[in-house]
Amino acid sequence: MSLLDNIKIVLIETSHTGNMGSAARAMKTMGLTKLCLVNPIVKPDSQSISLAAGASDIVKQAQIVDSLNDAIADCQLVIGTSARSRHLQWPHLESFQSGDKIIEEAVLGHQIALIFGRERVGLTNEELQKCHYHVSIPANSQYSSLNLAMSVQVLCYEIRMAMLRLENNPSIVNESIDYPKDGDIERFYHHLEQTLLQTGFIHPSHPGQIMGRLRRLFTRARIEQQELNILRGILTSIDKTMR
Ligand code: SAH
Repeated sequence: MSLLDNIKIVLIETSHTGNMGSAARAMKTMGLTKLCLVNPIVKPDSQSISLAAGASDIVKQAQIVDSLNDAIADCQLVIGTSARSRHLQWPHLESFQSGDKIIEEAVLGHQIALIFGRERVGLTNEELQKCHYHVSIPANSQYSSLNLAMSVQVLCYEIRMAMLRLENNPSIVNESIDYPKDGDIERFYHHLEQTLLQTGFIHPSHPGQIMGRLRRLFTRARIEQQELNILRGILTSIDKTMR
């Protein structure tokens, strides 16, 4: 098993089946194999297979899911890609840094998702807020939007270059921090919301922005497994007192 098997390329609501095939080819040439399609507008077809060329196995084995949450439930590091640097204040990586970040964590056995948006409109703000980091390819500021599969190629190339740098200099691996999987963080948000509803901090009829703000806070902070355990323990102690 290669450490690149810890990395999943996630394409959201792709409209052109050719892009799925070209993305698969881009991945396989760089040594990546895991493709996940979230709600593809059209299912992969003969055009995907012909553009994939020798990478049609990746298209055929692609995981197809209904939601981004399902795609990343087993992932500890989630990185979103965007042509535009949005107004959101968010941890940002240059493309070469994203390669190093991804490889550093892949070495530790963490599961990683690299998310790509729709051909016309990219990723929504809500999707970008699920990501620990945003990465953009520093393209021409007058015209920065690459074709979807080509952006997959560039970022998979960066991942491969980072892997080769690591092979030449294995000492660059950092110490290990244990990060929770996205599915566990979603269960924590559910618990937090239930507890805040019970204490009356959130009102069911007008919940407002509180949960959204709290999600942003925890994503930005990149919560660690031990910290998540402490927060779950605090919530359980509040639940017990309430009862
Ligand atoms: N108008 C859309 C462009 C979508 S291009 C927008 O501005 O977001 C389709 C997808 O290709 C994007 O969602 C992103 O995943 C990827 N992409 C295109 N250009 C990119 C760039 N310069 N840096 C990083 N990702 C890019």
